[in-house]
Amino acid sequence: KRIGAGGGVVVIGLGRFGKSLALELESDGMEVLGIDADPRPVQAVAGRLTHVVQADATDAEAMRQLSVHEFDRAVVAIGSSLEASVLAAFVLRGLHVPHIWAKATTKAQAQILEQVGVEHVVRPEHEMGRRTAHLVRGKMLDYIEFDDGFAIVRTRPPRSILGKTLAEAAVRSKWGVTVVGVKATGKDFTHATAETVVEDGDLIIVSGERRKVEAFSNQ
Ligand code: ADP
Repeated sequence: KRIGAGGGVVVIGLGRFGKSLALELESDGMEVLGIDADPRPVQAVAGRLTHVVQADATDAEAMRQLSVHEFDRAVVAIGSSLEASVLAAFVLRGLHVPHIWAKATTKAQAQILEQVGVEHVVRPEHEMGRRTAHLVRGKMLDYIEFDDGFAIVRTRPPRSILGKTLAEAAVRSKWGVTVVGVKATGKDFTHATAETVVEDGDLIIVSGERRKVEAFSNQ
């Protein structure tokens, strides 16, 4: 079987971001082709990534020879060079790779990548900075916010809900949030129900409108 034919992922740029991404995808069992113009990052992952080549991703012909057009997903993980990142994205568009992700370091780079037609632009530093702010400011241990102001957090339960069922604690009516999962020390996460009793030392997963989730967690 040819690599890519079954729907693999091309990762362009094997810096800190691209390398972590490529190794994580491969450990999940995906077929990954890593590409970097510099021989050093290529050598650094050579033992751990099955398919890795040194090539210039802004060179359309080189990309075609690597069968990049046969992949259905690609990630441009070049943050440091605006020109190389935009040209690489442009080449991927030209090769009709159906789903393209790109990492942007600045807002301007994100906007240009969107203009070039990149479907998913991520800004890790920006997003992680914002996310960390929520953790620093409150008691939450993990925080994910979605576009529409909806959030999911992992946190220690507030004292007000300890020792009673979620129904008795009236979490939803009092706070407008939903406890979706509970984890006791040393146990697995379980889905919460109205009868779930949360104890001191448990961890909980809470979802809902961002402000309500924060108010509930930080009470
Ligand atoms: P990080 O911040 O995640 O470490 P960098 O932006 O520093 O990411 O790394 C980008 C990587 O992309 C580098 O390893 C660099 O060699 C690679 N790169 C830059 N330009 C090209 C290109 N035209 N083709 C392929 N790889 C490239």
